[in-house]
Amino acid sequence: MSFTTNGLVCAHHHLYSTLVRGMPAPKNRSKTFLDILNNIWWRIDAALDNEMIYWSAMLGATEALMSGTTCIIDHHESPNCIEGSLTTIADACKVVGVRVNTCYGVTDRWDDDGQLHSKVSPLSKTTEAAQRGLAECDRYLSAGGSGMIGVHAAFTCADETLIAAAELAQKHSVGVHIHVAESTDDAQSGARIESLAQDNWLLIHAVHLDRKLKGRIVHNVRSNMNNSVGYAKPTQWSNKILLGTDGIGADMIEEARIAYARLREFDVTAEPSTVWRWLDNGHDLFTEAKDDVVTFNYDFADSPWHAAFTTNMTAIDVEINGEHVLVDGLPTRVDILEVRAKAHEQALRLYERLS
Ligand SMILES: [Zn+2]
Repeated sequence: MSFTTNGLVCAHHHLYSTLVRGMPAPKNRSKTFLDILNNIWWRIDAALDNEMIYWSAMLGATEALMSGTTCIIDHHESPNCIEGSLTTIADACKVVGVRVNTCYGVTDRWDDDGQLHSKVSPLSKTTEAAQRGLAECDRYLSAGGSGMIGVHAAFTCADETLIAAAELAQKHSVGVHIHVAESTDDAQSGARIESLAQDNWLLIHAVHLDRKLKGRIVHNVRSNMNNSVGYAKPTQWSNKILLGTDGIGADMIEEARIAYARLREFDVTAEPSTVWRWLDNGHDLFTEAKDDVVTFNYDFADSPWHAAFTTNMTAIDVEINGEHVLVDGLPTRVDILEVRAKAHEQALRLYERLS
């Protein structure tokens, strides 16, 4: 048993959400999942500009590193700042030294007149906004960026858009990274993407999925609890399961502990090794992370039974490609205090726009 593990992978993150903690409470109390999207997330993403995206990603990547997470699979949306946004995120992660795979999450919820629709007819036409999102994915991947084709979710997309995303993914030999059946509002998504999904797709949440689909399922247990959408019961599927945070940080050991506690509540015979296997499955998408070395302040860090119950286990050193990018718990390439201060400035700008 050892103090070290290999690099951890967050298989579903929203780096743009890092600034959101501490935002003033919305005027309307959210009573449903769609309320949460309307009152919080779709107001936030519409207010983002390039500088906010940069510092949000920088803080998110730095905090990931400080948790031993060396690889982030990011899903991004900023409807009023689409072009170049993926490069901004990749640039921020590069400065910190964390690997990122990002995508722009296309959606038709903003129509061509700039009106927001909570649900979109499958028969409607692809919007200009969705075309711009697809173009951003195409541009970023064509320029050699590491990423996928993002789709917000089937319930905010026309069928035409889902097909276009699948075709673009094929063109670039990558998968589609899409939220699937996160709440009952998206329960039809399985039927809508069944003929499109491929083994290299990332199916996020799958809480209310009603059929087996091709692809890997990413379980975001804390986010699901926070949004009160139900338990995803990941062990019901034969698909490979990975772990994500859905934007609530990137501390994957912490996420695994919560996933274990929730699994155990569902099945008292479950063992931590099941959840730590989900964590390991992230290496399918980032094989390089197997060579990263994360040293924790606790022996037996590589034992699921220990890690599941040692709640103050902390990463103190991280080595990526032979470079020590975290030493004594602090990032070496950036000053965490400066990153926090800059991110805070951008957070205040963001809250100002929201008010
Ligand atoms: Zn998400």
